[in-house]
Amino acid sequence: MKVWGKPIWLKELPPLAGGYAVSVALADYTTIKVGGPAEVMATVGSWEEMGSILRWNEERGTRNEGRVPLTVLGKGSNVMIRDGGVAGVVVVLGKGLDKVEVKGEEIYAEAGAANGTVARAAREAELDGVAFFGGIPGSIGGALRMNAGAYGSETYERLVKLWVMDQAGVVREVEPGFVKPRYRGTELPEGWLYVAGQWQLARADRETIREKMREVNRKRSTTQPLHLPSSGSWFKHAEWKGEKTSAWKLVDAAECRGMRVGGAMVDVQHANFFVNVGNALAKDFEMLSEKVEAQIKERLGVVMEREVRWLGEAE
Ligand SMILES: Cc1cc2nc3c(=O)[nH]c(=O)nc-3n(C[C@H](O)[C@H](O)[C@H](O)COP(=O)(O)OP(=O)(O)OC[C@H]3O[C@@H](n4cnc5c(N)ncnc54)[C@H](O)[C@@H]3O)c2cc1C
Repeated sequence: MKVWGKPIWLKELPPLAGGYAVSVALADYTTIKVGGPAEVMATVGSWEEMGSILRWNEERGTRNEGRVPLTVLGKGSNVMIRDGGVAGVVVVLGKGLDKVEVKGEEIYAEAGAANGTVARAAREAELDGVAFFGGIPGSIGGALRMNAGAYGSETYERLVKLWVMDQAGVVREVEPGFVKPRYRGTELPEGWLYVAGQWQLARADRETIREKMREVNRKRSTTQPLHLPSSGSWFKHAEWKGEKTSAWKLVDAAECRGMRVGGAMVDVQHANFFVNVGNALAKDFEMLSEKVEAQIKERLGVVMEREVRWLGEAE
């Protein structure tokens, strides 16, 4: 596996309580357990620390030394990290960036908070509207980036306030529409990141919400391969015969269920989950995805779009 040496800019980075580490295997930071190392990993413990890294990079840019690539990683549940790893600084949001607070009938959550924590906090306050977060194994930052959703609900539906950090490290409150939310995607200017969101909820009975969350989890455990490493849904839904069609139906109709390259396989139980069945490399997933995409194009005439975000470089 690729190993990065110490970059010359390492000693210039601003101090962090959580520190920096060189050449950290990112497979351990993803749910699919695949990927090469981060050149430098920064574990950030406050928004001030996060801002100081961005300011340091902004200053490098103005001194014509060139910006260092910066990547924010959430809980790694929607990424595929290529085998050559990720150049520059990979930021992990540590403790201190995960505040969750119920404010009247709204809930505020920071990017580092787990989606499940937010769903449970709302339920305990007898507030409904973010119960769907319960079964999505990512962070609020990842949900804001991806417009995560499930069973008819999406992250931006009830979002009333949004905070982002700009390239110069300044936290700004923006209108949710600023990031142009769409199905499983948003657009944030290059070098910016998500800081927090606030959702408008509705009063509801705690037990009713609990039952709704249980029901969703039951459905997930019977339809999804939760015992195998994956990144959730691989492809986005697509148009087929004039109708919006679930991606698994297209994978199935093109007879791709069970296809395999190395340790990467199209799951047999849920055809839109690509799973790691043993020591898979990112290049296995790349080849498998290309094969599936080609077969769907050839048999159904549909061009598939990947939902999973690809980061880093090939080895
Ligand atoms: C078993 C399983 C089931 C899943 N079910 C669902 C589902 O039902 N619905 C659904 O929508 N998704 C689902 N997913 C996918 C995934 O959980 C969501 O997309 C989740 O929102 C990703 O969050 P994360 O913290 O893991 O993000 P990551 O995977 O770490 O990152 C995703 C992208 O967001 C970027 N990012 C992360 N944090 C920030 C930030 N603070 N600022 C800027 N960019 C950021 C990353 O750079 C990357 O490009 C599932 C995944 C698994 C493994």
